[in-house]
Amino acid sequence: MADPIYRAPKGTHDVLWPESARRRALVGVFADVVEAAGYTELVPPMFEHVEVFRRLGDTTDVVRKEMYEFEDRGGRQIALRPEQTASIVRSFGEHRPALPWKAWYAGPNFRYERAQKGRFRQFDQVGIEALGPEDAHLDVEVIATAWRFYECLGLQKVTLLVNSLGGSEDRARYVSALHDHFSANLDSLSEDSRTTASTNPLRVLDSNRPEDADLIDSAPSMLDHLSDEAAGHFEQVKVALTSLEIPFTIQPRLVRGLDYYVRTTFEFTSEVFEAAQNAIGGGGRYDGLAEAMGAPPTPGVGFAIGVDRTLMACDAEGVFEAPDTPVDVFVVDTTGGEAALLVTDELRRSGLRADRSWGERSMKAQMRAADRSGAAMAVIIGDSERESGTLTLRDLRGDTGQESVALSSITETLLARLK
Ligand code: AMP
Repeated sequence: MADPIYRAPKGTHDVLWPESARRRALVGVFADVVEAAGYTELVPPMFEHVEVFRRLGDTTDVVRKEMYEFEDRGGRQIALRPEQTASIVRSFGEHRPALPWKAWYAGPNFRYERAQKGRFRQFDQVGIEALGPEDAHLDVEVIATAWRFYECLGLQKVTLLVNSLGGSEDRARYVSALHDHFSANLDSLSEDSRTTASTNPLRVLDSNRPEDADLIDSAPSMLDHLSDEAAGHFEQVKVALTSLEIPFTIQPRLVRGLDYYVRTTFEFTSEVFEAAQNAIGGGGRYDGLAEAMGAPPTPGVGFAIGVDRTLMACDAEGVFEAPDTPVDVFVVDTTGGEAALLVTDELRRSGLRADRSWGERSMKAQMRAADRSGAAMAVIIGDSERESGTLTLRDLRGDTGQESVALSSITETLLARLK
């Protein structure tokens, strides 16, 4: 067994080919879907001043317990990003782009979590954020965009849960009602939830400890605490989702882990996973976040999709397989290798993907390597080809056999055959 120091740190893993090709393909599909809806890519830094994330709320677990924080050599307090909405909103405040502003992102986040299946310390997300309009149809556009993305991957067992947390005043009233409910029955709660009940009663609703189930079931519902305005907004969201024929379930206990959400919140779960780790994406409205980051008050809505878990769901449903990316041509050279050097260079410059064999290996060994490469054609250079200024082309997939081609016309011939 390798020395533990030379293994990837706990909660992280190497992504080898072909899984790496599949991830890149997933981001490609995502970019196509969101760019078709007017979102443009933003690439924020992977670390920020720790304050940027503190703005997400002190009771947010990812900030309070899970952040990778350090002081850099210049004495700055820095954190690796645990999520990207904060960075995007920080970037919005810094650059003040015209509204509405619709951005997408893809990349890793870092959380010091209890590592287990589907829960990592470094994990990738893709997401979008839309700042400006308060229009309920924007919430629906955001939800629908995620839904279409899952459809493009071929996923069919995705469930959409929606809720409204009301405006910030409704939310505060609801938190106080929840606080009263839990405080009156503290003894029936699990030990962990007893602490959470006083600091952040909403989070108790997320508990999946069996001891808490009854009190959670009997807790007041957020939907009874909505102002007329928030209830109207939520109604519009539901009507528009129905018009788009996107099925959804109302989940009044859906609070999500991040404290900044108001009004619409939603989550996508996959039916193929166990309940504890079944979320493959989620998001909502965060109308107060821009202001909290020192930007002009600007409403916003967005989602983040977990790439690792989405790919696990694809595995379970048998969809979105890794793309096959073999080279087009494999060059076999038994005359020393210089001819292979020149031919592969010429082929690559013409836009063909070309690989070759290495070392002074026999024709048979090199042909085996050609077969393994998955290339469609082999270019063979042996002593007789060398003497006659030709190359032999062999079809590795079909059975059109082989033909002799002049060295000077090899690229042209292969382009005609393969492109
Ligand atoms: P969040 O940013 O917590 O709202 O998470 C959005 C999505 O990212 C979740 O639905 C998961 O699919 C994924 N996710 C969150 N945390 C992790 C993690 N530690 N490991 C893997 N995926 C994660």
